[in-house]
Amino acid sequence: MCAEGGKLDKLARWLMEGSPGRAVVFSGAGISTESGIPDFRSPGGLWERFDPAELSFPRFMASAQSRQRYWDFYRENWRLSREAEPNAAHFAVSSLEHSGRLATVITQNIDGLHQKGGSSPEKVLELHGNMWKVRCLSCARLYPWEEVFLRLKEGLGVEYCHSCGGFLKPATISFGQSLSEDVLEQARHHTLKSDLFICMGSSLVVYPAASFPEMAKHAGARLVIINRESTSLDDIADLIIHDQIGPVMSGVMDILGK
Ligand code: NAD
Repeated sequence: MCAEGGKLDKLARWLMEGSPGRAVVFSGAGISTESGIPDFRSPGGLWERFDPAELSFPRFMASAQSRQRYWDFYRENWRLSREAEPNAAHFAVSSLEHSGRLATVITQNIDGLHQKGGSSPEKVLELHGNMWKVRCLSCARLYPWEEVFLRLKEGLGVEYCHSCGGFLKPATISFGQSLSEDVLEQARHHTLKSDLFICMGSSLVVYPAASFPEMAKHAGARLVIINRESTSLDDIADLIIHDQIGPVMSGVMDILGK
């Protein structure tokens, strides 16, 4: 299955015509479903067993019971995601970077698959953090996720930092938690300078993340949306491809000659 060739040709042409290093990729959970990590909607995913509202930051801070629920979620999330490998879309995005076409990848994903697929870590702006690090909320000491995972498997508590006694939490941004100002600032900078802004696999409903495509469009960039279903910003997009991201991006890379 693939989108009509005309749309892929158009996207490839815009990538070639654009000023070098000014295109931006904005990715969401949908770019990783072809790697086996479910988005919020796919049937059978973790999100059928865990309610995102229960995993919010205020809930995490409120009680030991909520933190236990949170860690139950992460134990499952780590178990299910640790074998995941990048797919054709992640590889296409890293090729675009290495051929000098991309300024940055702004991602809502926490799975680290862009970096695993070859994108330079400094070019990946993780708006919602990274699930493969655990951080103390008080002193910011980092712990390897594997260490915490083993303790969870053994039924031991993981709530407190060995250094300062603060709460440990995966280095992700939960609902109700502030995003990093530094990451937001870099994302704003690249968005405002972009001439081509390509959204891949996001329903574009989670804010402030979804404000970036709007910002890019208002600043004069062409807005492209690749998503298998409609999104909340289809109305303002210059090109909409309702299809699977992996095959679409493989097709675009074939046209570009990799
Ligand atoms: P979302 O679940 O709201 O939307 C994903 C969109 O991708 C859907 O519209 C779906 O139709 C589309 N999609 C799924 N697979 C696709 C494919 N192969 N090809 C084309 N389209 C596809 O995700 P979101 O907009 O990123 O927002 C959800 C929030 O959940 C984010 O904050 C993110 O941090 C978090 N999240 C992250 C991951 C991850 O890191 N992989 C996974 C689940 C949720």
